Amino acid sequence: MGGQVKEMSIKNNIVHYRQELEGKNCELIAVSKTHPAEKVAEAYAAGQRLFGENKVQEMTAKYEALPKDIQWHLIGHLQSNKVKYIAPYVSLIHSVDSAKLLEEINKQGKKINRVISCLLQVHIAQEETKFGFDEPELLAFIASPEINQFTHVKIEGLMGMATLTDNQDQVRNEFRHLKRIFTAIHRQADKPASVSMKHLSMGMSADYRIALEEGSTMVRIGTALFGER
Ligand SMILES: *Cc1c(COP(=O)(O)O)cnc(C)c1O
Repeated sequence: MGGQVKEMSIKNNIVHYRQELEGKNCELIAVSKTHPAEKVAEAYAAGQRLFGENKVQEMTAKYEALPKDIQWHLIGHLQSNKVKYIAPYVSLIHSVDSAKLLEEINKQGKKINRVISCLLQVHIAQEETKFGFDEPELLAFIASPEINQFTHVKIEGLMGMATLTDNQDQVRNEFRHLKRIFTAIHRQADKPASVSMKHLSMGMSADYRIALEEGSTMVRIGTALFGER
């Protein structure tokens, strides 16, 4: 009965995380950025279909190389001039951080007659560098007449990133803050037709457990599945 070291494999990791999320109303977005298409294929073979990428060019190359039933989620900052490359196939854009960007996504969706699903990114961290709307901006944007002119985007929820810190209470408070905004918009009786609060994208390898406890419906996990980048 020799001791056996359990091999760390992408397949095992996928199975493990899917089990952990079972019954929790939360989807696993496997963040495959910087990892080659072969690694994505390993996760695919384990049944994973939702993948997150943060660069347009890299995501498009993987989209072209891999099975077409994969749903590609763009989770990183998106430049307006690159929207056209992903508009035909992207499944969900998590990182819409300005009205101008949403306008461009709508324009590209219109061109190809496709309604593109988006999340609005909310700035909840202390760091200055993180992208996103702050709370007043977000609420003003959702209340603005401008939003009703968008016929080719659907706003399906919110995304946020907590501060990179060991202080778990701070991380929890930031996620809780985002959930509170999410619930408030969800309950607005007069919100625009293009706005629904279905997805709350929060939590990464280091903080997904806290995010789950605070009501995440989509965790974006990279390192814990694929290893260090
Ligand atoms: C890279 C990235 C992740 C995944 O981070 P890990 O720590 O590797 O799990 C999640 N969300 C966004 C926006 C990212 O850029």
